[in-house]
Amino acid sequence: MTQGKGRRTTLVHHGARRSQYGEVAEAIYLTQGFVYPSAEAAEARFLDSGPDEFIYARYGNPTVAAFEERIAAIEGTEDAFAAASGMAAVSGALMAMLRAGDHVVSSRALFGSCLYVLEEVLTRYGVTVDFVDGTDPQAWATAIRPGTKAVFLETVSNPTLEVIDLADVARRAHAVGACVIVDNVFATPVFSRAVELGADVVVYSATKHIDGQGRALGGVICGTRDFIRKTVEPYMKHTGGALSPFNAWIMLNGLTTLDLRVRAQAASAQAIAEALQGDAKLARVLYPGLPGHPQHGVAGAQMGGFGTVLSLDLAGGRDAAFRFLNALQVIVISNNLGDARSIVTHPATTTHQRLAPERRAALGITEGLVRLSVGLEDTDDLIADLRQALAQA
Ligand SMILES: *Cc1c(COP(=O)(O)O)cnc(C)c1O
Repeated sequence: MTQGKGRRTTLVHHGARRSQYGEVAEAIYLTQGFVYPSAEAAEARFLDSGPDEFIYARYGNPTVAAFEERIAAIEGTEDAFAAASGMAAVSGALMAMLRAGDHVVSSRALFGSCLYVLEEVLTRYGVTVDFVDGTDPQAWATAIRPGTKAVFLETVSNPTLEVIDLADVARRAHAVGACVIVDNVFATPVFSRAVELGADVVVYSATKHIDGQGRALGGVICGTRDFIRKTVEPYMKHTGGALSPFNAWIMLNGLTTLDLRVRAQAASAQAIAEALQGDAKLARVLYPGLPGHPQHGVAGAQMGGFGTVLSLDLAGGRDAAFRFLNALQVIVISNNLGDARSIVTHPATTTHQRLAPERRAALGITEGLVRLSVGLEDTDDLIADLRQALAQA
């Protein structure tokens, strides 16, 4: 946070640029490029462009810059680079900093596309990646070795909601000089203390809570000015993963209400987890806010909140899970999360379908597991919908 302002004030105002018209809402600079007042000015800008001097929208744009500044201020990093999607941000951060011969340690419970980038893409270019059970400190201790270049993790895993002790992993990584890259989607910028706990680079899919209304793709990489401008920017601007100015404008508007939305959704998720715990149709209710969750203590200390997603494991397996999904009347079947609408997903047959059954089992993704992203509807309506659908499962 900058300018000594509070979080919500920063989310509403920070980074806004007003044109000569004094517009209230941020302007959308829907332009691919910028006109230079002279040939000399063009030369000077290509040589060294100052703040608010733009060249081409693939490199930067005023609406996109406003989004980058606002998210960096909230995350507590010096700078940020916006990307076309969460995956453009994750792959950009990794590809920009790694080269053949580098060693990376990653938690194994990852979003499917992150797993693909680490397992299939980086290794193709001579990067070695070791995967560990992120909740096992000993596994990190064994895998991180002198010369390890980077450590990658999702602080809260999808869809089983395991929570990794970020401070502990960062301490181990920094002891060998490794860079700590965190995909922080599930923690959200509202509950993130990632930088304070030792993350060097924080990546978000803005598609999730930052938009929060299921409209647009976006992503962002947050880090030091040096890392963002000298390592990330050259890679991103030449490989083309730029965020569109229109989507940046959507994300800026998403940020204004982010704190209120995420806190309301997390409170509802907590109430739902508590209400459904012990239901005869459920083998497990997975939510870090439940005292029985294995990392309940770490999650509370690390985030000061428990997030907007929970998972329900139906005792009756896939058939019961499908009957449950098909019986829901308010909650929709889709695969986004962080949306204002509550959304259910059956990971084994959708987001994690690509994994072999043994690997799904090792990650705790059973045939009965259903992920629920809690939206902004009335909590009572959601609980009633879930209860009637469970009765039919
Ligand atoms: C959705 C998601 C991504 C990818 O984001 P996109 O905007 O869909 O590209 C990466 N990591 C996590 C944890 C996600 O949930």
